[in-house]
Amino acid sequence: MANSSSATVDPVPAPASALRVRLGKLCIAVQGATPGELMDRVYAVLPDSRLIELRLDSLAKPAAALPQVRKLLAERRDVVAIATCRRKAGGGQFAGSLAAELEILEKAAEAGCQIVDLEIESAEQATRPQLARFRAALHETGTALLVSFHDFTRTKGLEQAAERIEAFEPDFVKVVSTARSLADNLAVLKLIEDHSLRSHVVGIAMGEEGLISRVLSPRAGAIFTFAAAAEEATTAPGQVTARAMLDLYRFDQIDPATRIFGVVGNPIGHSLSPLMHNTAFRRENVNAVMLPLKAKSVDDLLTVIRDLPLGGVAVTMPFKQEVLPFLANMDSLTARIGACNTLRTGADGKLYGFNTDVAGVLRPLERRMHLKGKRILVIGAGGAARAAIFGLVEQGAEVFVVNRTHETAVALARKAHAKSLKQETLAKQKFDVILNTTPCGMAGTKQALPLKENELNASLVFDMVYNPMETPLLKLAKAKGLATIGGIEMFVQQGARQFEIWTGKPAPEQEMARVVELALRKRAEA
Ligand code: NAP
Repeated sequence: MANSSSATVDPVPAPASALRVRLGKLCIAVQGATPGELMDRVYAVLPDSRLIELRLDSLAKPAAALPQVRKLLAERRDVVAIATCRRKAGGGQFAGSLAAELEILEKAAEAGCQIVDLEIESAEQATRPQLARFRAALHETGTALLVSFHDFTRTKGLEQAAERIEAFEPDFVKVVSTARSLADNLAVLKLIEDHSLRSHVVGIAMGEEGLISRVLSPRAGAIFTFAAAAEEATTAPGQVTARAMLDLYRFDQIDPATRIFGVVGNPIGHSLSPLMHNTAFRRENVNAVMLPLKAKSVDDLLTVIRDLPLGGVAVTMPFKQEVLPFLANMDSLTARIGACNTLRTGADGKLYGFNTDVAGVLRPLERRMHLKGKRILVIGAGGAARAAIFGLVEQGAEVFVVNRTHETAVALARKAHAKSLKQETLAKQKFDVILNTTPCGMAGTKQALPLKENELNASLVFDMVYNPMETPLLKLAKAKGLATIGGIEMFVQQGARQFEIWTGKPAPEQEMARVVELALRKRAEA
């Protein structure tokens, strides 16, 4: 039964203020199929955070873990536990009644959990006497009440949700929505900013698009944010692991002066740019963070650039061309290539565009040779090839283009003052460099080699593909005794140039390369 007059329930003294000083900013949500598994996971995450959400609803019998919870909380006075027994209607697994939920939460409070989480639907469904009894029980144990709202479909009506919760005068207000766009994060952060002056608020948007809110909500005034114990143990869509929050995003060091950068694309989940740039920021003591941004449209991206705001963006597919009309200015090579992979927001709020893929190709080669007059064969005529060809021609190299679709090679070569070749002529030609810009050889692709062995006639072979690190083409080149450059070097060099554009400092290239290589090795082993 709905009880809108619950707002008139006598407020109980709020223990939240006292509790607040003990709360860490990262709450790790833990669930388990058995009490043993739940507790094992709790102990495993304690080194990362002493604020734990116990998803009791993940157990067949939610109260079964409470004796072990009591023992833990008696032994570890530094640990703060939030007991949650989310009902199915609220996105949880608990199939019992409201009365049963309240009873379990009361027992959890009695076992020492310092906070209990009650869904707004349950709070509104409870009768006045039921709620009064529940709050009296919490009062007795000195337990704080968190009332939560969850929307698993969208981000809308957050203000009304917060008001519904605040009507119960809980110690903590938790509003969770689902991000369908990057701009949805702005709505969540604004809600937190507005309400943090009068309530202890927690707010995040679930889903991959909601990452901004997870990382930045404490800066907006949220009491804490949520993370998963491990990748295979997430309790909500889009949840980030505690280690990623701490090591990759260093969310606890983000302050009002922290500059926010993004790498945008769709998909973007596997991008190594956040790892590479956040490592570089840390190494060079730059107060900045890079977040992966899954954008559905360029408009969505432009909204967060303007309103978050973002200091700069690494642009990946499919936005490299789409951003061009929105640039206040770009360097002449970027304009000729017709693709931009780096945005910098000027002090005037305007966007400036660069193409650092050019540096990604040129720098590794220039370290090994003077490019003027060198014969360079580029295989492929897509976006990456364009950056390479325009850049190499500008350095005075004699550039040849061969492509699966010959007409595309002809058109590109004409535009870039290069020469197109037909594949069947390659066996008779000799080059200083062969540069592969096709995805051939990339993990998961069918075609391993972009050309035949007798067509590999060059002193040096450069493969843009970096996963695997040693591609079939590089293996073949090495077997023939040729010098090689792997795609990681390009990835790091284009990133190093981005770092310079954004920070004005030289990039810690070795450290950037080290973490990218390590991550790729780990992926290969997984
Ligand atoms: P893209 O625009 O889609 O172009 C792909 C090119 O490869 C096209 O010319 C295409 O020929 C050709 N191609 C595709 N599949 C082929 C096959 N099975 N056999 C022969 N040719 C094939 O892609 P892109 O953005 O240029 O990226 C290309 C590669 O470079 C990707 O593997 C990407 O990961 C890599 N890359 C690496 C870096 C780095 O930092 N290391 C940076 C950028 C890109 P058609 O014209 O016939 O379709």
